[in-house]
Amino acid sequence: MKIRKLELFKVKPRWLFLKIETDEGISGWGEPIVEARQDTVKAAVEELSTYLIGKDPMRIEDHFQLLYRGGFYRGGPVLTSAISGIEQALWDIKGKFFNAPVYELLGGACREKVQVYSWIGGERPKDVVEAAKQKIEEGFKAIKMNATDVMHYIDSHVKVDQAVGRISDIREAVGYDLEIGLDFHGRVHKGMAKTLVKELEPFKPMFIEEPVLPENNEALRDIVNHTTVPIATGERLYTRWDFKKPLSDGFIDIIQPDLSHTGGILEARKIAAMAEAYDVAVAPHCPLGPICLAASLQLDACTPNVFIQEQSLGIHYNQGSDLMDYLKDPSVFKYTDGYVDIPKGPGLGIEIDEDKVRSAAEEGHNWKPPIHRLEDGSFAER
Ligand SMILES: [Mg+2]
Repeated sequence: MKIRKLELFKVKPRWLFLKIETDEGISGWGEPIVEARQDTVKAAVEELSTYLIGKDPMRIEDHFQLLYRGGFYRGGPVLTSAISGIEQALWDIKGKFFNAPVYELLGGACREKVQVYSWIGGERPKDVVEAAKQKIEEGFKAIKMNATDVMHYIDSHVKVDQAVGRISDIREAVGYDLEIGLDFHGRVHKGMAKTLVKELEPFKPMFIEEPVLPENNEALRDIVNHTTVPIATGERLYTRWDFKKPLSDGFIDIIQPDLSHTGGILEARKIAAMAEAYDVAVAPHCPLGPICLAASLQLDACTPNVFIQEQSLGIHYNQGSDLMDYLKDPSVFKYTDGYVDIPKGPGLGIEIDEDKVRSAAEEGHNWKPPIHRLEDGSFAER
């Protein structure tokens, strides 16, 4: 079998899909994207495709080595996201060739279903109590929200009180049966992170995510002394090499590799195995589209230290289309009592509605993230 063609589709809300065709009629889908860098990643995939045309799609490890190391310069989100989408599509092809879901080729299932969480709260969290109640009604047992509004390096305690007030209001309204992940989104700096983790702890969050930007992770050494809440990070870390230091430093409890950024399914499986050796849990990041979620569920199925999965149904980013819109059978992602069943179909276990993708790609998108500024007019991390 040989790779014949790579084709890319920019589709709303902010996604990029890749279809890889082979000369034997089997094709696979992947999702190579860096949010708001869709054209850059598209160009990267097109550039990498010249190495792949005419090659055997089954040699996934060898293709990863060549695409990642072959250019001498390596790493960074654009290259690793381009490779991620290619890698997912190659696994889809391999699974379809063997008529098996990808997890069967990676050791087999070690669970029947995986817990999922749902995002609430948007960029500037408000009305979170109503949103939390809504998610409970939809059957979710876990949610995640931005803990704070944008924050200056050192900011007012009013903002700390507002953050405490939001989770306190949710606890008062729905109690403690609901797990709540609090995302600092890298928008909090070290000086405020220490105060916030301490003040938020009494409300028993499931975890605190990106308490500081990943490039400032040495600050975790200090921050973890102020709380017992599990610390999560990893959506902006790429390949096993980026995870090496945070894992060996020992300040994190949960890693959140994104399967469309970190290097793909097998790369995430290797990262998860590294984490397992450090007694660290895995919660794959996935505010993206259905192909990334399908790839993540394949990892979740065969990875013992995964405890929860992010998914994007109804997320505030999904303007213009949503998670299920490009699937022929949306029931593969059916959420029941806060869990989704492990998909049993071959490859990634989903069937993409290609006609719908093609017609959506005619319109395309030019998604840009919101830019936030602080009261003094300076740039704010979002
Ligand atoms: Mg996050």
